[in-house]
Amino acid sequence: MRVAVFSTKPHDRRFLDVANEQVRLELIYLEPRLSEETAALATGAGTVCVFVNDDVNRKVIAQLRDLGVRFLALRSAGFNHVDLAAAEAAGIAVGRVPAYSPHAVAEHTVALMLTLNRKTHRAYNRVREGNFALDGLLGFDLNGKTVGIVGTGLIGEIVARIMTGFGCRVVAYDPAPNPRCVEQGVQYLPIGDLLAQSDVVTLHCPLTPATHHLIDDNALSTLKRGAMLINTSRGAVIDTRAVIRGLKNGTLGSLGLDVYEEEADLFFEDLSNRIIPDDVFSRLLTFPNVLITGHQAFFTEEALRAIAQTTIDNISGFEREGQPLHPVRSEVMRQGG
Ligand code: NAD
Repeated sequence: MRVAVFSTKPHDRRFLDVANEQVRLELIYLEPRLSEETAALATGAGTVCVFVNDDVNRKVIAQLRDLGVRFLALRSAGFNHVDLAAAEAAGIAVGRVPAYSPHAVAEHTVALMLTLNRKTHRAYNRVREGNFALDGLLGFDLNGKTVGIVGTGLIGEIVARIMTGFGCRVVAYDPAPNPRCVEQGVQYLPIGDLLAQSDVVTLHCPLTPATHHLIDDNALSTLKRGAMLINTSRGAVIDTRAVIRGLKNGTLGSLGLDVYEEEADLFFEDLSNRIIPDDVFSRLLTFPNVLITGHQAFFTEEALRAIAQTTIDNISGFEREGQPLHPVRSEVMRQGG
């Protein structure tokens, strides 16, 4: 089967080529993101393979259906960028990579917490310039602090384990509590109590209608004053304008982001010689207590190997049996996560 692979970067090609050695699918590597403007590049392909910032909306689905595409292979766990109802109606099956390396994302989350708290990013630059002053580098002990985890699935569970190891009290909010977290001693609380009690809040829920702008002005008004907020889930779980207000008035002590609600026009590209037109993002960059990485939490050798292997397995499974190994099921669609 011919597979049109959108948003291809050199690392995608490297890992997909290795995973494809035995199966030998015809992979057509395309650098553009999938959108209404680029969907025609899938002409002749039975499968389209996409990443997190490809826009698989209703119109794109209709275009793909007209081109004869029958399978959409997501190189991601999240599927908020796909109109699943439209895909189902168009007879296009959708497969995803439900778990590649939750450790990769959990460990990057903790890297953001530690960097923001101990300001190692600022210390690195200072020391290189011969500035050994400590002013502005004061942090706090994580030991004994309360960490609130919103969403205790694969990634949230690992974050809970790591933070328990730091000596933190770990509390969580999840409509479906994870029994392994309960066994570890994680205490489930209503979201308002979690926000009020936590020194660090970290988001690990999917982006759904229920979690869209979960952290808004109202949520920030219940947050413990000066708390740290970390988001490695999806950008739109946070109302960015509200957190900017929170940073300005001191409600929010610090902010670590790996995702941003308007990231599709920025992330994964080298824009260092361009003017960034997004004033909200640019404002975020001006705060000394904000740390942003460009959606790299997943970016480890182990995760890329697993993403490539599961993607190839999904496509060859669909080719053989008309079903990917890991379908995005209709019951999941109804729950939205
Ligand atoms: P998962 O499906 O294993 O866990 C998600 C958890 O969120 C589940 O326990 C679910 O019950 C819970 N949840 C659902 N709705 C909720 C709500 N309204 N409030 C609180 N919790 C809710 O997913 P995962 O593998 O742990 O991944 C979590 C998210 O991380 C993904 O949805 C994805 O958006 C994001 N992610 C980011 C990166 C990255 O590179 N930054 C990589 C992978 C995944």
